[in-house]
Amino acid sequence: SGINFDNYDDIPVEASGEEVPEPITEFTSPPLDELLLENIKLARFTKPTPVQKYSVPIVAKGRDLMACAQTGSGKTGGFLFPVLSESFSTGPSPIPESAKGSYMRKAFPTAVVLAPTRELATQIFDEAKKFTYRSWVRPTVVYGGADVGSQMRELDRGCDLLVATPGRLNDLLERGKISLAKVKYLVLDEADRMLDMGFEPQIRHIVEGCDMPGVENRQTLMFSATFPVDIQHLARDFLSDYIFLSVGRVGS
Ligand code: ADP
Ligand code: MG
Repeated sequence: SGINFDNYDDIPVEASGEEVPEPITEFTSPPLDELLLENIKLARFTKPTPVQKYSVPIVAKGRDLMACAQTGSGKTGGFLFPVLSESFSTGPSPIPESAKGSYMRKAFPTAVVLAPTRELATQIFDEAKKFTYRSWVRPTVVYGGADVGSQMRELDRGCDLLVATPGRLNDLLERGKISLAKVKYLVLDEADRMLDMGFEPQIRHIVEGCDMPGVENRQTLMFSATFPVDIQHLARDFLSDYIFLSVGRVGS
């Protein structure tokens, strides 16, 4: 499984939308943050995969993205690298005045990544830990079928990048434990699988929560291995002025 990293330059890439930025060819600063480059080196990633070459400048330019690429093509780095680069260089955002003095500590993640299963959420979280090494960004993961109390205590220790399954995130939103008011990046990973698993209502609820008044300049990024019609509809509903990226042969 996965792609052959030796000859992936031959993989056809289609990028459409208004003013598609030039792809990067190497991991370099700019557009990537120096500390992130160090962590990429520690992970022994020597060059970006095709989806990463395109997604890094697209996200860095502030654009929404719908990216389709097969499993194993490096989609996790495709969203983590540009999101973390921006986060590292801008630093923490202040906690809103309204949240201060509250009896319960609330988490205000600036990036939220939705994934369909505990396993996938954990994989993304593990990658996020690697690439946030020695940075101020603290990743946290929450998923269903596990004790919510310990996840809430984990959130209390700080949560800048949240990886979550949709059901558990909604549960924690209802408990008032998480606020989406500071979300600058919302990522829907494995969007096709999330729809197959019936998460569409939960996802719509989360997207609406990110769209509340006072939330400015949120970017939404969708990643999927396939591009069936229900994903096309979701992209149309959730993304604005987005770039469509298709790497290799993508089924619909
Ligand atoms: P996808 O989400 O598209 O299925 P992943 O992001 O899980 O793919 O990446 C698949 C594998 O490739 C992982 O083991 C990951 O660590 C590795 N990988 C990703 N990007 C690179 C890269 N630029 N160089 C080397 N290995 C990479
Ligand atoms: Mg993936």
